[in-house]
Amino acid sequence: MRYDVLIIGGGPAGNYLAGLLAGKVDVAVVEKKGSFGGKACTGIIGAQNYEKLGLPREAVLNEVRGALFYSRIQSFEVARKNPQAYVVDRKTLEKALAERAVKRGADYFMATTFRGFKNGKAVLQHFNERFEVEADVYVGADGVSSTVARAIGAKSRAEFLSGYEVEVVGNFRKDFVEVWVNKEIIPDFFAWLVPVSEGLARVGTFGDMESLNRFLRVRMLNPTSVIEFKAGSVGLGWRKPWTSGNVALLGDAALQIKPTTAGGIVFGAICARELTRAVLSGDLQSYEKACSWVKRQISFGLRFRKLFLRMNQNDIERIFEVLSSDEVRAIIEAQADFDDHLRTAKAVLKRPKVLAKLIRISPAIVRALL
Ligand SMILES: Cc1cc2nc3c(=O)[nH]c(=O)nc-3n(C[C@H](O)[C@H](O)[C@H](O)COP(=O)(O)OP(=O)(O)OC[C@H]3O[C@@H](n4cnc5c(N)ncnc54)[C@H](O)[C@@H]3O)c2cc1C
Repeated sequence: MRYDVLIIGGGPAGNYLAGLLAGKVDVAVVEKKGSFGGKACTGIIGAQNYEKLGLPREAVLNEVRGALFYSRIQSFEVARKNPQAYVVDRKTLEKALAERAVKRGADYFMATTFRGFKNGKAVLQHFNERFEVEADVYVGADGVSSTVARAIGAKSRAEFLSGYEVEVVGNFRKDFVEVWVNKEIIPDFFAWLVPVSEGLARVGTFGDMESLNRFLRVRMLNPTSVIEFKAGSVGLGWRKPWTSGNVALLGDAALQIKPTTAGGIVFGAICARELTRAVLSGDLQSYEKACSWVKRQISFGLRFRKLFLRMNQNDIERIFEVLSSDEVRAIIEAQADFDDHLRTAKAVLKRPKVLAKLIRISPAIVRALL
């Protein structure tokens, strides 16, 4: 069997890429699971990029237009008129992308695991049967623990975090997410509450399970109202190289994920577009350079993450005081971008008064953000 492009991994990144390439080249996707979905993922995706990238509408369960931020002792709200993010159903998202790719001509090998490369061919396993597939280009879109990345000897310089998430029944504000930054209960990250509807929300954090349990208690959510529990992991940092010979890495396999929020679906899809261009132009090596916007965002996110890890709760309270001022909230409401956090930070730091206040808290903050 032979293809122009063989994509290993049928998650959002692999399926999206398959849809972009199908009909233009012979493409196949190998997915180890027998069906889509099931991964731990809150499924919150910036609305603007969702539309721009042409992600499937049928996966959208809810639209959010604002956020409520809580520290240990303060809170503030930012809101817009229009939806800023969509909450999606992961299974529907992955399946709709795969359906689109098949309709355009892609082949799918479900319940088939990539085992490694042998003599330039991919060795695949479907239950007890092993077979080989040859391709001009191989794409590892097989997630954070990528076998393809290992096969090409890619090296990671990253922080790997476990994420825990539940779906809980309660009463929620349907169009607002909650972001809780309180190191005393959640030392490693922030905790989020993302409403799926007025009666159901996804609540999670990264770090350890105890942090999530503490947060559920503080947020007064009933542990016996939890109707789904999922755990997964993310890698915040770099995995290099993104291409080696005729093999490219995409999505979480290349750690194309926002270190600020651990959202990866949009970055994976943006890089899939660049990878499509590189494949169609016959210049695979141009792919990594073409993803410079995503790389800049990751760089910024890593600086932000480093800063967050160094801060104590008193520092966070002082930053909340600045962020909750009318001036900063107005900037965020006017200019914040769900995926472009670098632009948001620059817009905030452009204001001399805000800049002066942040420098008073710590010059390191301003250095890290710029
Ligand atoms: C708790 C948590 C919450 C998150 N919330 C969000 C969020 O709200 N928004 C957001 O944008 N991102 C979120 N993320 C990150 C997001 O889930 C990932 O960035 C996204 O899934 C990456 O997509 P991908 O296709 O690159 O990889 P994956 O989704 O991991 O897909 C990889 C696919 O490859 C398959 N595979 C693996 N190995 C093989 C093999 N050897 N052979 C064949 N197939 C293989 C897997 O079965 C899987 O289907 C969250 C992550 C976690 C852990």
